[in-house]
Amino acid sequence: MTPEEFRAAGHQLIDWIAGYLEGVEQFPVTAPVQPGDIAALLPTHPPTATDGWDAVQADLDRVVVPGLTHWQHPSFFAYFPSNTSYSSILGELAAAGLGVNGMLWATSPAATEIETVMLDWMAELLGLPERFRSTGTGGGVIQATASEATLSAVLAARERATGGAGNRTGTLGNLVAYSSAQAHSSIEKGLRIAGIGSENLRLIPTDEAFALRPDALAAAIAADRAAGRVPFLVVAAVGSTSSMAVDPVAAIGAICRSEGLWLHVDAAMAGIAALCPEHRALLDGLELADSFCTNPHKWMTINFDCDLFWVADRAPLIGALSILPEYLRTAAAETGAVIDYRDWGIPLGRKFRALKLWFTLRLDGVASIQAMIRRHVELTDWVAAQVAADERFELAAPPCLNLVCLRHVAGDAATDALINDANATGEALFTRTVLDGRSVLRFVVGARTTEARHVEAGWALLGRLAPPA
Ligand code: PLP
Repeated sequence: MTPEEFRAAGHQLIDWIAGYLEGVEQFPVTAPVQPGDIAALLPTHPPTATDGWDAVQADLDRVVVPGLTHWQHPSFFAYFPSNTSYSSILGELAAAGLGVNGMLWATSPAATEIETVMLDWMAELLGLPERFRSTGTGGGVIQATASEATLSAVLAARERATGGAGNRTGTLGNLVAYSSAQAHSSIEKGLRIAGIGSENLRLIPTDEAFALRPDALAAAIAADRAAGRVPFLVVAAVGSTSSMAVDPVAAIGAICRSEGLWLHVDAAMAGIAALCPEHRALLDGLELADSFCTNPHKWMTINFDCDLFWVADRAPLIGALSILPEYLRTAAAETGAVIDYRDWGIPLGRKFRALKLWFTLRLDGVASIQAMIRRHVELTDWVAAQVAADERFELAAPPCLNLVCLRHVAGDAATDALINDANATGEALFTRTVLDGRSVLRFVVGARTTEARHVEAGWALLGRLAPPA
């Protein structure tokens, strides 16, 4: 492709993307395709001659779009939002165009320094405790996902608990970690990868709001100590995946302090709500945490991938993840005056993700994101009120932020059928979970363009398909 062809195709593609996002509402939310349908549209063998841009763009419409779940659809009420904005798309495009690898400060000082400033800006915007700022012992880094942030927290906690022995000898002793029974599967995955293993994760019982019970945590730690094991990490959820439960971070933090355990707070989606001062109480107790993560790629209109991960003390993180072969040695790093972000996460190579955060904060501004969050929360409250007023439904958990968990009073079969039937229409998309052993329909309001009419239509769809009580 020549620069001239790139210019022409690039303009066309931007037009195509804008058209897709403007018109996404016309598509069924999920692709009505069967396994193999999309692959069957591709040639069996790689091309032997080149195509022009027009043919490639036509295949976006012919092959790709019909096989999509439209996460940007305003009636996408499933999983969690993964919204995108025009500004963040431009940031992603600029990063691709620059094509730099920000693995070391020296391999692109701008990539490193803009990232550090963005993390400090975001710490300010979210009202995070001072200890997470890069100006002290802590600091933040952009990682691809919350799962990688949790793995990094596991490794840093392991480093601190073993004085580096886990890395050097591979012997982990009897390390034990704790999370609520509702916490995300990435915690168990991180413990597996770190060589600590699923059996050394204790799933602590929760209260009636599905939040971790501090008394049960304290008892589990005491039991493990009595058995000669080494408790080293607690992962608290601020906004659990199934029901948006908020673990009591302050009480958990007090236990971690007195027991010497690392506290990681996983606020993958809910943490973004702290951009609105009225939701900052979600993060009460965070001053007791050793690390924290939240995902702008979920609810802040920054396209995937963009997880923000902060530590209060960067030394154990870097201790766990830094290895210095000769080919990565730089004079700048020797001075100790710069950050090499390769030491703050799993991969060596790093995208210039800070650009999409910077562009969005400048072009859209935090006020527009706050307005979106407030609109979503208001619409969610409306859904919760409808559930409470309809005798066929009941709330399965206290509604929180942008999630309502509901079920049909007739039982699991009715709830499951309702989810399947509603999704089959293509008019909206919901996901199922299980709480207290019973089926639950999750209604998440989080797409950037979701307005009252979409939420009302989603609720009307459920009302139309639900059998009587
Ligand atoms: N933690 C929580 C509470 C989540 O809800 C999720 C996603 O659902 C994750 C972690 C994993 O997020 P990611 O896809 O960024 O790894």
